[in-house]
Amino acid sequence: MEKHQLFETWILQDAQLTEDEQKCLNAHLLECDHCRQLKLGWQSTRSMLKTTPMVGPTTGFSQRWKNSLAERRARQQKAQIKRFLRYLIGINVLTLIGLSFVLLLGTNPVNLMATALREVVMALLFIGRAGSVFNMFLRAFPPYVPVLIWVLTSTGFSLAALAWGFSIWKYVIKGVNAK
Ligand SMILES: [Zn+2]
Repeated sequence: MEKHQLFETWILQDAQLTEDEQKCLNAHLLECDHCRQLKLGWQSTRSMLKTTPMVGPTTGFSQRWKNSLAERRARQQKAQIKRFLRYLIGINVLTLIGLSFVLLLGTNPVNLMATALREVVMALLFIGRAGSVFNMFLRAFPPYVPVLIWVLTSTGFSLAALAWGFSIWKYVIKGVNAK
């Protein structure tokens, strides 16, 4: 596992690699399933996360910024966390919208429950996929990221659970009113 660390960091950082580093990475990707999967996963995740570009630093600041790898890493880390936050919020909004539609349109209780369940399962699958990317982040970016990720993930889950509970409650109320 240890020897992958450097390659994982290169893959996830989107940093500019030197020609030698790039060659080294490419050679490793050819022989390493793990890192190839990571690269593919990361590319598809990133295209899902496509967001507004970062605001460029002013010229004076730019040079200093370039010189400080630590600062640069911190910036990238922050940008990535923001993207994941948006991603999770998106999932939750979609879950809520999906459940609302089910509530508004579903008349047959069996269909309603089945559709709602499918929505929840889809949402959980989505979160699960995001989770496997998070795991790679845990290894690539210690130390404060794990805490944030757990906060974000648990927020996502509790929101989804809340939406689920709300839909059941609405369904029960509807059922009671109909009688
Ligand atoms: Zn590897």
